[in-house]
Amino acid sequence: MRDETPQSGERSAIVAGGGIGGLAAALALIGRGWRVRVMERAASFGEVGAGLSLWPNGLRALDALGVGDAVRGHALAEIQAGIHDVSGRRLSRTGTAELERRFGPVVVIHRADLLDILRSAIPADALCTATTVTAVDADGPRVRVEHSDGVSHADLLVGADGIRSSVRRAVWPQAPEPRYAGYTAWRLVVESGPLAAGGETWGRGERVGFAPLPGGRVYLFAVANLPAGQHGTDGELAELRRRFAHWHDPIPALLHAATEEVVMRHDIYELPPLRSHATGRVALLGDAAHAMTPNLGQGANLALEDAVTLAALLDACPSVPEALAAYDRARRPRTQKIAKLSRRIGIIAQLAWAPGRVVRDRLIRLVPGSRMLDMLAPVLGWQPPAARAAQDPPWMP
Ligand SMILES: Cc1cc2nc3c(=O)[nH]c(=O)nc-3n(C[C@H](O)[C@H](O)[C@H](O)COP(=O)(O)OP(=O)(O)OC[C@H]3O[C@@H](n4cnc5c(N)ncnc54)[C@H](O)[C@@H]3O)c2cc1C
Repeated sequence: MRDETPQSGERSAIVAGGGIGGLAAALALIGRGWRVRVMERAASFGEVGAGLSLWPNGLRALDALGVGDAVRGHALAEIQAGIHDVSGRRLSRTGTAELERRFGPVVVIHRADLLDILRSAIPADALCTATTVTAVDADGPRVRVEHSDGVSHADLLVGADGIRSSVRRAVWPQAPEPRYAGYTAWRLVVESGPLAAGGETWGRGERVGFAPLPGGRVYLFAVANLPAGQHGTDGELAELRRRFAHWHDPIPALLHAATEEVVMRHDIYELPPLRSHATGRVALLGDAAHAMTPNLGQGANLALEDAVTLAALLDACPSVPEALAAYDRARRPRTQKIAKLSRRIGIIAQLAWAPGRVVRDRLIRLVPGSRMLDMLAPVLGWQPPAARAAQDPPWMP
């Protein structure tokens, strides 16, 4: 294990977790001259994963990290999206063209591709796999991190270790535990040939969404209100087909093209709002700080925003604790507001009560697509902080 001791005034950071948030944080810090060590529990970086929506705010963060163009190489051609009912009747229409005109492009990318792009931009000697962070002592002048390979010290610890963060547990033992959102989600990527449209279909306590990926692949997700911890008795693909194969086109064909091995199922948990995302020399980032329901497709986008903001504030502020206090002020209100909005959208989208659903569908038809985009403006309009931003900067929500 490399010694984290800095040389000639170099600042050093340990990043716990090498998911999208951790790799983005490492890239942002290295870009500003930090000596970084990413400690990832898994044996390799990358994830089997499925698709991921990157919105204009996330793409601006990726631009600030210097990898926006590589990611945009995976951009969709212009497609129509929107919300349908189970029969295929359109309830709302949102074209990516309108979204792009107002806020910038949207990219649907395979997670493994995004992780690859981030990982290849980071020097290999900053990355350490099969290393689990087990304990943290943040009381001294430097942070002491115990991990499966020994003990390391650094000027900064970034807890990017996901919804069940060990860093959060160690530093904020009173923090609330993740709670079940009431629904489970399946995700898969199928090779089905090019598709010109994407979107979501809302049923009764059930939902399906799909979006084309480059190379004739399609990302499909499905959500159903169910107790936590269940599994399809005869496999997840059979469960998906039973629930959704009679929905409108192209859902049956997409499910027909799928195989059991590509179906992933996760119960959806979210983290209740934390009182702080940072203290002293320890910052939480991404799902470790604000794991949210995926209804807005913003979790990873916000992790990217966190990373860029954190690195900029560390440059702008005279000390690590002051920078982390500014980070908490800048990030907590925004991420908690978006998590709340996402939860509310989930309640509406997963509505199972039949009369409520009829009213919901009627109301959605009355709201123009442009109005829906207005509602998303504060989310999608985020801009990265300027390099020399002062504390209490104008981008604060
Ligand atoms: C169904 C679904 C769909 C989604 N769709 C979208 C979408 O379209 N767009 C979007 O922006 N977001 C989406 N999200 C959310 C997004 O996946 C997450 O917000 C994002 O992956 C969080 O990244 P992260 O790096 O913070 O955490 P993670 O991806 O959880 O990474 C944490 C990493 O830390 C490692 N780790 C854990 N503990 C330790 C330890 N003790 N020591 C060392 N390493 C450790 C883990 O192995 C992991 O690699 C979706 C989520 C779900 C569930």
